[in-house]
Amino acid sequence: MSAALISLFLATVFLVNMLMQPSPMLSIRETSVLLSPVVVVALIGTAVSWIFKGIEISNRGLNIYLFMLEAAWIFVIWQLFYTGGEMYAGHASLTGVEALVDVLVLTFAIALFPDRRVMFMAVLPLMLSSFFIRFIEIPANPLFPVTKLFCILAILVTGQKVLYSWFKKAIVRDVEKQYLLKQFRRMALVDGLTNISNRRHFDEILSQEIRASERNNHPLSLILIDIDYFKRLNDSSGHQVGDECLVEVAKVLAVICHRPRDLAARYGGEEFVLLLPDTGLSGGCQIAKKVRDKLAGIKLDHPDSELGHYITVSQGVCQWREGMSADDFISKADTLLYRAKSTGRDRYVEG
Ligand code: GH3
Ligand code: MG
Ligand code: MG
Repeated sequence: MSAALISLFLATVFLVNMLMQPSPMLSIRETSVLLSPVVVVALIGTAVSWIFKGIEISNRGLNIYLFMLEAAWIFVIWQLFYTGGEMYAGHASLTGVEALVDVLVLTFAIALFPDRRVMFMAVLPLMLSSFFIRFIEIPANPLFPVTKLFCILAILVTGQKVLYSWFKKAIVRDVEKQYLLKQFRRMALVDGLTNISNRRHFDEILSQEIRASERNNHPLSLILIDIDYFKRLNDSSGHQVGDECLVEVAKVLAVICHRPRDLAARYGGEEFVLLLPDTGLSGGCQIAKKVRDKLAGIKLDHPDSELGHYITVSQGVCQWREGMSADDFISKADTLLYRAKSTGRDRYVEG
């Protein structure tokens, strides 16, 4: 589309240029005939890209189109050279042809710079045309067109390399930036010790899920979990063992919360929370039971617990009700958790 539009633009500039000459080389009709291949190809390109807007055109199709456009321009260049040669004495037509070729080479080079092969296939015929035209016109001085040809080639090759290294640097910087952003986001939302979501993430998701439940009238349940006699574990086995225990409990919770929108988070110290969208109170209780059973199954050592020698948890399970704020919802779960603690621990209380 851009190539077609720029060709139309160049053809118009060319036409205006011709007409502004004090003694025009070609009449409007002759200029129009001369430019007609370019205009036709450019109009076809504009129309096709407009009709198939949004549809990806294959690289092969694009290349074929570019070469058609280029062939049309090369036709203009040679025609211009022969017509100008017949009409003007000296090298007047050569100047016009070379100016046109330089503009076209620049346009194609900029447009196709990222694809080295296609760019050279597009600019080389133009440059060679200019080279031969000068050679035909001034055969006595072959050095200048050769030098010009090689200089332009050298500029394009080195330009490609410079640009490629800039692109590479920019891409590397971009990848690094994306990686850092991901790390920052992770650090902001994930608990450093247990690798599950932290309180901040939980708060964010909780308000989103409450809004979703309000809108869709879907149930939403919450389980607040607190490890029993955890302080004693720290005191008897050391903080490191306490930390390892937190990691193991978090793993269990993460496995149990397996639905895509379920969320297991570390709420604080040795407290965890499970947020269960599309889950009613009975579903929440099933999950709480699963947590209890799973922990009983893996038997994490707690030599100083009053409930046996293994880690147990107390849980408060509740369902969100119309009009409850996030704070009300958590407070309700907290009250139920407190009740689980006060009625003997190692259990869940629903409400
Ligand atoms: P209860 O059965 O009533 O819940 O008794 P508890 O000892 O678990 O209750 P409490 O809330 O008094 O104790 C929580 C302890 O958790 C206190 C603190 O030392 C410990 N704790 C909090 N965060 C961490 C942590 O990141 N690592 C370790 N190792 N311990 C922690
Ligand atoms: Mg606690
Ligand atoms: Mg505790």
